[in-house]
Amino acid sequence: MPPTENRCSLCNEPAVVRLVEPERRLCASHFVEDAGARVLAAVMRERMISPGDRIAVGLSGGKDSTALLLLLHRFLPALGASLVAVTVDEGIAGYREETVAAAKDLTDELGIEHVIVGFADLFGDDLDAILVGREAQGCTVCGVLRRRALAEAVKRVGATKLATGHNLDDEAQSVLMNVLRGDLPRLRQDTSTGQPGHFVPRIKPLAVLSEKEIVTYLLLRGYFHDLPECPYAGTALRSEVRTMLAGLEHRHPGTMVRLMQFRDGVRRSARSAEPLKALSTCRICGELTSGEVCQVCRLLERDGT
Ligand code: SF4
Repeated sequence: MPPTENRCSLCNEPAVVRLVEPERRLCASHFVEDAGARVLAAVMRERMISPGDRIAVGLSGGKDSTALLLLLHRFLPALGASLVAVTVDEGIAGYREETVAAAKDLTDELGIEHVIVGFADLFGDDLDAILVGREAQGCTVCGVLRRRALAEAVKRVGATKLATGHNLDDEAQSVLMNVLRGDLPRLRQDTSTGQPGHFVPRIKPLAVLSEKEIVTYLLLRGYFHDLPECPYAGTALRSEVRTMLAGLEHRHPGTMVRLMQFRDGVRRSARSAEPLKALSTCRICGELTSGEVCQVCRLLERDGT
């Protein structure tokens, strides 16, 4: 029997979502199943996880990383891998306390090992203090330091891979931002392979789900919490790109998927073209960098003496 309007394409129960490519309407239980199956298919197709892997999930406590942990917790035993959650506490007053508490509650409930690292321990100060006088650069500074903090957390827990909760919207925004900045090296950069001795491979299993789908998934599974927004959000180019892309996706469904296909095409052609500039080690902290001093040491104004 063909599905009637607003009925699930699979069982004719009332539909809760309408998806494009392929176009279908799904009821609550079929949507939860479909979202999980798409994530698992991406993990298998891109060989993100191998038997024996110890996967560190970057768990901020927000919606994306919550969905990621729930899904990986379901799949990993069958894939022969283990799981540990790592949380970075940047030290953002009025925001981070609640999300760190949400991360703790979730790992307690699921019985998953959980390690928290803080900017204050790693860099000598909270993000709030580091940003005094340069608040407008909040996300740029935070992004650089967070990457280093996550790398440190991954080393501490002995993980073989880092899984992050980047969703389709995040990834499409990054593609567009790299284009707008003219940053071809970053557009070409594939972090899924890692750098022996420095960075473990990073995997992004949720990049096949849109932000809307992740919110729907969490609402249907009873895990959606209305958490505060970071006070520095909205200070970056990303915020403008997010608004623009949301409008384009609404008027031209499939825009974000096509942006990802464009990025993948650029990466494929880059593999057969000239190699990227080799990385060296920072003369101050010894981490990998493309120059003499890494971005972290430059941001923290370390002089190495
Ligand atoms: Fe850091 Fe910006 Fe995210 Fe806040 S919104 S946690 S400053 S990257």
